[in-house]
Amino acid sequence: MPTRRKFLQSSAAGLAGLAASPLAAVALPAAPVAGKPVVISTWDAGVNANKGAWKVIGPGGYALDAVEAGVMVTESEQGCCVGLGGNPDRDGIVTLDACIMDEKFNCGGVAGLERIKHPISVARRVMERTPHVLLVGEGAQQFAVSQGFPLEPQQLSADAKKAYAEWLKTSKYQPVVNIENSKSRPTGPVGGPQNHDTIAMLALDAQGRLSGSCTTSGMAFKMRGRVGDSPLIGSGLFVDPAVGAAAATGQGEDVVRIAGAHLIVELMRQGRTPQQACKEAIERIAAIKGAKAKDIQVAFIAISKTGQTGAYALQKGFNFTVSTTDTPVLRDSEFLLK
Ligand code: ASP
Repeated sequence: MPTRRKFLQSSAAGLAGLAASPLAAVALPAAPVAGKPVVISTWDAGVNANKGAWKVIGPGGYALDAVEAGVMVTESEQGCCVGLGGNPDRDGIVTLDACIMDEKFNCGGVAGLERIKHPISVARRVMERTPHVLLVGEGAQQFAVSQGFPLEPQQLSADAKKAYAEWLKTSKYQPVVNIENSKSRPTGPVGGPQNHDTIAMLALDAQGRLSGSCTTSGMAFKMRGRVGDSPLIGSGLFVDPAVGAAAATGQGEDVVRIAGAHLIVELMRQGRTPQQACKEAIERIAAIKGAKAKDIQVAFIAISKTGQTGAYALQKGFNFTVSTTDTPVLRDSEFLLK
């Protein structure tokens, strides 16, 4: 039996060891290392979004400004799947989720936000001007209005109206995999049964600062009040300056189940490359879902603090966009279920 004295001695030794261990160091932001800027984002919507981000980051701007400006392009795009043009919930109302995180563990998000064009900018205001990290629904909208964001009309885009009318014929909640990929959309940019709609972006700037953003109208025809992974720090997005950053797209419930983005960053901390870490997270989801894995799509992107990028998807059809110059490169992702 250890005596009380021995126990105290060994605890003190243990604490001293902890202070000297890498665990003590990881809580502190690492000094950024200067290098070349890199931007990575989900899907082919990332091509235009990365161009928007590059205008900021290319000439030496801040990664946080870049990831905000980049996804704002997608939020504004007519006929795109993110923002107010997206598909509504099952009651016919578009509700938006977004979050943003910088290289100092500052973060902010909004969920279930209605009638605001740029949820990502509201998320940034939550981060910068409130003591909180997440505002939802009416409160998020009130805050947005108090910050000067105009209230847009409560209406569906023509395409979303059509898609909703079509959906009402069966009212069956049956997400379609890869619907964010514009090539997978059956009837053009926003027609057809689109079921999930997200852009996530990670950026490393020339000063070595990492940031990430994520914005979505969520799963089409979701239950009213449903929140997915995209506004949740640690699930849809996570940034740790000592390691790297990760973000998710696809069936949010299954990303939340494994705290996807945070898991990937922790795997990178343990030595996995961004690609390996994304793959391992997808394998975990596949193992959890079993035979049901084939009915969903989940994909991750990641970047290390030195600018190495990676991506991996559960199923074929996920693509992502990488920029190391002002010309973005669209790539098909590797995937698990062959
Ligand atoms: N992750 C989003 C959500 O679950 C949807 C998507 O990425 O398409 O709300």
